[in-house]
Amino acid sequence: MLCNYCEWHCDLSKGDGVCRMYEEKDNKIVEKYPNQWTRCHGIYVERIPIFHAWPNQRFLQIGSFNCNAGCSYCINASLTIKPQSPITFKMTPTEVVEQALRSNFKGIHFGINEVTVNLPSAIAVAKKAKKHGLIVGCSTNAFFTEETATLFADNFDFFNISLKSISDKFYKENLGLPSVSPVLRNIEYLSPISHVEITTPIVSNGNENEIPAIADFLYKIGPEIAWHVFRVLPKHLLADDAPPDVEYLASLVKNVKDKLPYTYFGNFIGSNWVDTICPVCDNITIERVCDCACGAKFLNDDSQMGVCRKCGHKLPITYDRRNV
Ligand code: SF4
Repeated sequence: MLCNYCEWHCDLSKGDGVCRMYEEKDNKIVEKYPNQWTRCHGIYVERIPIFHAWPNQRFLQIGSFNCNAGCSYCINASLTIKPQSPITFKMTPTEVVEQALRSNFKGIHFGINEVTVNLPSAIAVAKKAKKHGLIVGCSTNAFFTEETATLFADNFDFFNISLKSISDKFYKENLGLPSVSPVLRNIEYLSPISHVEITTPIVSNGNENEIPAIADFLYKIGPEIAWHVFRVLPKHLLADDAPPDVEYLASLVKNVKDKLPYTYFGNFIGSNWVDTICPVCDNITIERVCDCACGAKFLNDDSQMGVCRKCGHKLPITYDRRNV
C-alpha cells in the first residue's frame, strides 16, 4: 500500500518508508507513534519566524521526530535525521490544547521536525484547537502531495514554508529530495488561501546565487510576501564549512528589495534587515532585533494595526484570525 502523505509515495507493504513514521495496518496507512512528541514549549511568533501576523504573540510550539528529507545542514539533525531513541512524551490533543489555553497562548505551531510525518496527530490537535479559538500553523518543507496540501489548507491557518532552492540539483544533492517542483506547486496553492511566509536557509557555496531566481518566483506569488533569508551557521554534515558571508548576502538581498520589499535577512549580530519598513515612506513600522537565533525578537510596533502612521500605507500584517 502506498503512503500518499508526501511525494515519496513509499510502498509500506515493503517495510518502513523514508520517514519511518507510518505503517500499513488493516489496509490503512497509520502513524507508528501517534500523539508522541519530543518538544513542547512557548515561543514568540517572530521566532518561527512569522513577521506578518500576530506581532509579539506567543504560541505553543510542539514537534515530534524524524523527517522525509535529509538536509546536509539540518539544525535539528539529532531529532530529524538520525534520532537515537528520541525521548518522547505522550500528549493527547486535549492535553496539548489545554496547555496552550492555560498559558494564554495565541495558538499552536508545529515545528522542530517535518509535520507531514506525524500529520494525523497534528490535525487532531488542530481541530480541537480551532474549536477553542486558537490559531494553528506549522513550519514545513512542503514536499507533500496535493491531497495533503488540502488537508493542511482545511486545518491550518498559517505556514512558514522552507524554500531551500529553486533547483532540483540542489534539492537532490543537499536535501536528498528528488525535486523542488512539489514545493513550488504547494506554495502556489497555499499562498492565496492561507497566511504563508517563506524561509530560505542559505549555506556557504551552496544556494546564495539562487537568491535572484527565488525572488523572481516569489514575486509571481505576490510582491507582499514575507521572505526570510536565513543565514545557516555550519551544522551537521557541513559543520566544517565556513559560515555564509554576511556582506555578500546583504548585497544580494539589497538587490531584490525593490521587487520584494518584505525580504528579511538574519542570523547574524547587528542585522538591520529584520524590521518591517514601509515601502512607501521608509518608516520603520515594526522594529525587531536579531539576536542570532531563528527569526528575531519583537521590539516595537509603530503602526496602527498594520497601517503606517507616517503615510497611511496599509502593510500586509495580520492581527486577527478574521484576516487570515
Ligand atoms: S510521509 Fe513518510 S512514509 Fe509517507 S510517503 Fe512520505 S516519507 Fe514515505
